[in-house]
Amino acid sequence: MNIIKKQKNLLIGIGIFAMVASILLLVFGILLLVRGIVNTTIAKLIIGPIMILISAPLFVFGFKAIFVASALKAVDGSLKQDNLAKVGTINMKKCDKCGTEILDGETVCSNCGKSFEE
Ligand SMILES: [Zn+2]
Repeated sequence: MNIIKKQKNLLIGIGIFAMVASILLLVFGILLLVRGIVNTTIAKLIIGPIMILISAPLFVFGFKAIFVASALKAVDGSLKQDNLAKVGTINMKKCDKCGTEILDGETVCSNCGKSFEE
């Protein structure tokens, strides 16, 4: 299994987990508010809304993770595997002379001194 597929599966796993967790949070939050599983009114009125509030960004996070993972599929064929260092954020470039990884903003290779300025 190559790196991209590994990252993709991991991201999809995280995404699905986050989405399921957010739905559970939402359901329990609503149940807590409506049905009052906990007898204490304060707990009911605070924990319920907090659970519902947390579920929204968690759902977005899960959706985003799955979205990035699905985008990786398109990248798979077009980019060299070793050029993709971080998922969805930075495409790590390499010095075409010696193969050392080039950091963002670097204009000269830290290993061989080759200039990358165009
Ligand atoms: Zn170099």
